[in-house]
Amino acid sequence: MPKHRRDLRFECVKCGKPVGPRAAGERHSAHFVHLQANPDCPITDPRLDF
Ligand SMILES: [Zn+2]
Repeated sequence: MPKHRRDLRFECVKCGKPVGPRAAGERHSAHFVHLQANPDCPITDPRLDF
């Protein structure tokens, strides 16, 4: 039986790169950001909500 580990890492729904959660701030709601900036991914605007 394969083991599925779940941790606090998620994959971008668009590019599949690892993303991390960002808590809500003054000017944005909670969202995910790429752990490493990916200029090829359409989800680069921090204002985008998931
Ligand atoms: Zn992405």
